[in-house]
Amino acid sequence: MLKIKSFTFNAFQENMYILIDEVSKECIIIDPGCNNTQEENELINYIESNGLQPKRLINTHCHIDHVLGNQLISDKYSLTLEAHELEKPVLGMCQQVGSMYGIPYKGSPEISTFHHDGDVFSFAGIVIQILFTPGHSPGSICLYLKEQNELIGGDVLFQGSIGRTDLPGGDHATLIGSIMTKLMPLPDETIVYSGHGPSTTIGRERVSNPFLN
Ligand SMILES: [Zn+2]
Repeated sequence: MLKIKSFTFNAFQENMYILIDEVSKECIIIDPGCNNTQEENELINYIESNGLQPKRLINTHCHIDHVLGNQLISDKYSLTLEAHELEKPVLGMCQQVGSMYGIPYKGSPEISTFHHDGDVFSFAGIVIQILFTPGHSPGSICLYLKEQNELIGGDVLFQGSIGRTDLPGGDHATLIGSIMTKLMPLPDETIVYSGHGPSTTIGRERVSNPFLN
């Protein structure tokens, strides 16, 4: 069983997640969005005070609000960055996007491990499956923990909403297609941990999400 810990960081109220093996204390850092000293300290203090050992750094996609703490985590724990290959140009635009929004951007390592649709890896005995869910961003992925009925969903599906598609590389029809073919087949009880806002479930969104009807 992996414990899922969340933090909400930066001007975009982005949710980052840590998947924690409570036995070995090893963990996976997903979308670290910390963007000032206070947020960085909050994240690092949590990791250190719980004796956690970050082993992997993964981005669901590389919009600026999801990558702001990449360099910090990569440097501090000697981790390389994992994401979908199609996010390379998105990550490459972050410097420019940061200046546009007036967001201090400290850079990020390049993506050096590429995840593909259907890839599976095991962490602390739990199987994590990569679902390729483009539309909000060209290389968006979700991480599915089938045994735990949990999904780290990035900015694909939100409680009562879906990811925006007006940013470069976004496409509404592609996003709806991703949700219908990759997420809606999951069991109703699957908890979706979204990149913004509260968590939800596949069952709840299946019946009530206005964008899916
Ligand atoms: Zn995004």
